[in-house]
Amino acid sequence: MINYLQKLKHVYRTNLKNLFFMTRCRVIYRLSCRAVRKKATPISVMIGLTYRCQCQCVHCCSAGNPVRKEDELTTAEIRRVIQEAKDIGVLKVRFFGGEPLLREDIFELVRYAAEAGLITSMDTNGELLSRETAQQLRAAGMCEIDISLDSDEEHIHDSLRNRGGSYGYALKAIRHCQDAGISCIISTYARKQEVYNGYLKRIIAIARILRVDGVKILFPVSTGKWLDMPSVCLSAKEKSYVQALIDSSFVFFEGQGNFNCETCSMIKKEIFYISAYGQVWPCCFVPISFGNIRQQKLSEILRRMWQSNVYAKEYTVCPMNNQRFKNTYADSFLRDRYENSLC
Ligand code: SF4
Ligand code: SF4
Repeated sequence: MINYLQKLKHVYRTNLKNLFFMTRCRVIYRLSCRAVRKKATPISVMIGLTYRCQCQCVHCCSAGNPVRKEDELTTAEIRRVIQEAKDIGVLKVRFFGGEPLLREDIFELVRYAAEAGLITSMDTNGELLSRETAQQLRAAGMCEIDISLDSDEEHIHDSLRNRGGSYGYALKAIRHCQDAGISCIISTYARKQEVYNGYLKRIIAIARILRVDGVKILFPVSTGKWLDMPSVCLSAKEKSYVQALIDSSFVFFEGQGNFNCETCSMIKKEIFYISAYGQVWPCCFVPISFGNIRQQKLSEILRRMWQSNVYAKEYTVCPMNNQRFKNTYADSFLRDRYENSLC
């Protein structure tokens, strides 16, 4: 019971706290209906706004996508897909990248999603999150921002991101979010080589000192820069060690941010992803395109995607870390196939 209440507290802080009263009631009502009916309906859409970024992180899951600003979805296209996502029952829009703050229309997009009654969140490296930008995002209706912190040590964080100064930017961005009244999560990942060296515990300690709203820990996924590197994945023993750090009210895994789903949110059809060029994928970590929103209605693409074999099986680990899944869909991965995958 205490555990359950702690989870509720976490969900409230990260997803509901910054919503208008009527929107909050609507989200709670829709979640209750969903729980009663036990029917799989999408909760959250991740929209990759761009693949441009100032960093070149060693672990980047977006690496492999070509960077073509001229082909990015336009403001009007993104507004349309947000509306289509809302129409099929989505409750939350997560703006993703690359670095979403490189999009000049970010405030307009956040405002559009918030005014449509959706929960809004964003993943950022923090570099462009000045005090003024944070205030503008809050005024537009931003509920939650996840800021990446890969290490408690400045030189390690900056070298993993191949960008001097990024540690300092991240810490400043956290303060600006908090001052603007946006829920702020530190997002980090468990690196195999260092999993036992205590850095995750130290990041959690920093998060408590900074009084952020939580720490999100990601397990390494063999995708993006690591597409051909299954060796980055944690062993069962390493995972257990990281799992012991979880505390439902403050430290959680990716996926639990979507209202505490503990297993793959993609397989449960709770999330889906729209690429910066309009392709619909099961998850931002699973680069298999089922169609493009420039050519087809989102609902039609989703229907086809959810009926596909990708969803036929439950996985105890991320499907991208399952070698059979990887072998089955290797030909569909978008890397180096950008031209073909646009249609
Ligand atoms: S900040 Fe994010 S998008 Fe940019 S390189 Fe790093 S992981 Fe990739
Ligand atoms: S495929 Fe599932 S487990 Fe893997 S990153 Fe996506 S939601 Fe998480």
